[in-house]
Amino acid sequence: MQKEITIIGAGLVGSLLSIYLSKQNYKVKIYERRPDMRKLSMSAGRSINLALSDRGIKALEEVGIMDEIRKIAIPMHGRQLHHADGTSGYQPYGKDGQFINSVSRGDLNRTLMNLAEQNNVEIYFNETCKNIDWKKNEIHFTNTEKNNTHLAKQDLIFGSDGAFSAARLTHQLQHDRFQYEQYYIDFGYKELTIPAGANGTFLMEKNALHIWPRGNYMLIALPNIDGSFTCTLFFPFEGEPSFQSLKTPEQARALFNKVFADASALMPHLEKEFFNNATSSLVTVKCYPWIREDKFALIGDAAHAIVPFFGQGMNCGFEDCSVLNQLINKHQHNWNGILNEYQSLRKPDGDAIATLALNNFVEMRDKVADPVFLLQKKIEAHFNAKHPDKWTPAYSLVTFSPEVRYSEALSRGNKQQAIMDEVMQTKDIESIWDSEEVEKMILSKISK
Ligand SMILES: Cc1cc2nc3c(=O)[nH]c(=O)nc-3n(C[C@H](O)[C@H](O)[C@H](O)COP(=O)(O)OP(=O)(O)OC[C@H]3O[C@@H](n4cnc5c(N)ncnc54)[C@H](O)[C@@H]3O)c2cc1C
Repeated sequence: MQKEITIIGAGLVGSLLSIYLSKQNYKVKIYERRPDMRKLSMSAGRSINLALSDRGIKALEEVGIMDEIRKIAIPMHGRQLHHADGTSGYQPYGKDGQFINSVSRGDLNRTLMNLAEQNNVEIYFNETCKNIDWKKNEIHFTNTEKNNTHLAKQDLIFGSDGAFSAARLTHQLQHDRFQYEQYYIDFGYKELTIPAGANGTFLMEKNALHIWPRGNYMLIALPNIDGSFTCTLFFPFEGEPSFQSLKTPEQARALFNKVFADASALMPHLEKEFFNNATSSLVTVKCYPWIREDKFALIGDAAHAIVPFFGQGMNCGFEDCSVLNQLINKHQHNWNGILNEYQSLRKPDGDAIATLALNNFVEMRDKVADPVFLLQKKIEAHFNAKHPDKWTPAYSLVTFSPEVRYSEALSRGNKQQAIMDEVMQTKDIESIWDSEEVEKMILSKISK
């Protein structure tokens, strides 16, 4: 008999997962707390974009929708840095031809839902998961439109209901020795907009991720296809300056004029947006176990929410789905085997990308403007060009190397960083950075 699978949450990961599972011939239902976003007017939501990179692309190619997504994706080949003194700089993300993509979250989610339904997935909206009894294969839902509760029965449950997962919570409450860790950083974020110029023109470089690194905080901007940019301010909750210290529209504008002058000039709605748009927190969630027998599993942010500084949360969740799909083939639909190996492969990778993402915050907001860091990156790129088989920068391992696991990217990155820490101590490194001496030094340290 065909196994019935219920997925909780029709976000990015739940929708993609349903496509993989229905292509594997399972009968799949998704229950989503929110109304159907495809029926809401496009102007109802702000345009929020995400960086899609090779791990996510691999999964979207596997289910056959990457060609469609490419039409709405804007390649970003590097970081455009806007320094405090008004100058700017540019750092390519990788080699020629390597880039990440700015994609609208809403468009991507809508496309995934459409494809899910084309593959016979049933999606139920306004259904909030309240409680799960995985041993009895039962989930309790409240329908927020009809204001009633009901019970769903199935063979297997996936909790893909995001960072604040109800599936994870009920799982946690019902089990002894469930490991759970949540860590909030002292910074929050707020989305702001740089509107398009006349006739939908881009008022800054279109094919770049813009960063205004300011030591303790930063502003970033990603392009949208309508010519606008969605900006995100990552800023301390408390202290000077902070979300708490900016109390009036005039204070917000004055700070932007002082520290993000070029961006501020392009933000006519700053005062309104700063006080109307939410200030949101940033959390890392780790938990274990992710699975129960052959009946229950967590996936995506529900299993491993991370901070957004590596642009990998969605990419990691998409990779979860791709790995799970490979395991369905490998274990020939034996779900004990599939889920056990899924957990043992993905838990270390989820932990690794969580660490990498936290480290990258310091890199983005502070180090990208530091001359020593920039010199280090130049040496790494130079060495990589000469010895591509011996050295790949950590950013490239994470972003452009889906064949390398996140856990391996972290350990290789740590080893390379230790080597670079020593190299950067070399006398006159600024003038001999591309010399044979430095090249030999790196080669000798790699082989140790
Ligand atoms: C500011 C910011 C920037 C980011 N930028 C990037 C980026 O550039 N690149 C990248 O790869 N990642 C990025 N991410 C991370 C990315 O957004 C997440 O990793 C991704 O959305 C996870 O997808 P998901 O489906 O697991 O969870 P979600 O997208 O959160 O979806 C969960 C779904 O479950 C539903 N749900 C919740 N509770 C219930 C319930 N009780 N019952 C039923 N349904 C429920 C929700 O309504 C939602 O539809 C960013 C995150 C943030 C906060």
